Amino acid sequence: MSSTQTNHGAKPIETGRRGLMLILSSPSGAGKTTLTRMLLQDKSLDLTLSVSSTTRERRSSEVDGIHYHFISRDQFDRMRGEDEFLEWAEVHGNFYGSPRAPVEAVLAQGRDVLFDIDYQGTQQVRRKAPDDVVTIFILPPTMKELRGRLERRAEDSAETIDKRLTNARHEIQRWTSYDYVLVNDDLQHTYKQVLTILAAERLRRARSQDAVTKFVNQLLSE
Ligand code: ADP
Ligand code: 5GP
Repeated sequence: MSSTQTNHGAKPIETGRRGLMLILSSPSGAGKTTLTRMLLQDKSLDLTLSVSSTTRERRSSEVDGIHYHFISRDQFDRMRGEDEFLEWAEVHGNFYGSPRAPVEAVLAQGRDVLFDIDYQGTQQVRRKAPDDVVTIFILPPTMKELRGRLERRAEDSAETIDKRLTNARHEIQRWTSYDYVLVNDDLQHTYKQVLTILAAERLRRARSQDAVTKFVNQLLSE
């Protein structure tokens, strides 16, 4: 059924809303990259990924400009000095930051931006734009499974995996800073939960204040 049919010819209120920033965070290996990929593959969701810049080495499966912008420490310091990051953080000994300009361009069109960033970055974005941020924390079902996923991903050395597992225990304790906490046991089930959150958050009155005002005024003028 088209929106015209459901809305009796009126413009759907949702089209006049502000863009939101959807942040997925998790300890490494819990599944946020996989969920991010699934969200981006569904074009009807119209989500734009904020591609972070990082000083970390590229993994064999990663493409520069798609998964990250791989930059030198000097380049990172220059961008940070010129306030080109919406947020930035040091994670596992590497630097990561979300370039500000592309995010602002997408939000200005009333469209949504997806972030895969850690809790430090999440807090910075929330402080800057508290009304426009939705945060989801992804947990693994067990620590044993988390190790298994990191090992099966086969992208990191044993030493790096140990470091990520130690960090995971600290990161998991940040769960109270997030709007939603999901346990990623069954991937399809978790994905559906993320879609439910996104759908509800897009409908929040505060994001469509102007459009709702216009609609209600029109309604009451009938
Ligand atoms: P993160 O981005 O959080 O570090 P990834 O998305 O790379 O994690 O997932 C780590 C590994 O676990 C990948 O090999 C991925 O295919 C696998 N994985 C993700 N979610 C699930 C799940 N629900 N069940 C089983 N394996 C999963
Ligand atoms: P990875 O090296 O596994 O790709 O990412 C390591 C961690 O850095 C993950 O928790 C990821 O969410 C986080 N991260 C990636 N990009 C950014 C970013 O731009 N800012 C912040 N704060 N964290 C990031």
